[in-house]
Amino acid sequence: MAWECGIDDCGSVFEDVESAVVHQAEAHERRECEICGTVVPDGFLAIYHTFTNHSRAEYVRAYDADSAAIRTREELLEDIAADIDQELLAEMLGSS
Ligand SMILES: [Zn+2]
Ligand SMILES: [Zn+2]
Repeated sequence: MAWECGIDDCGSVFEDVESAVVHQAEAHERRECEICGTVVPDGFLAIYHTFTNHSRAEYVRAYDADSAAIRTREELLEDIAADIDQELLAEMLGSS
């Protein structure tokens, strides 16, 4: 599947999730997680961080999200987890 960078108006499209994640880490500002303050690359990794480290309830409180927003992100998270190289993922989340 194609991966589109959804940060701001970027719209860059990548053939694999690794390329998209590397792009998001390099081309965009890192963000602080609203829940725990960890700085993570924006985009897919930010979603991955939030949904693997925090509960849905924490996410709703911190980001004022509704259930549709959560469903969208959970589906995306499944796609990311299924496709991404786990070593790369650990490296990108651990080296900040
Ligand atoms: Zn981008
Ligand atoms: Zn966090």
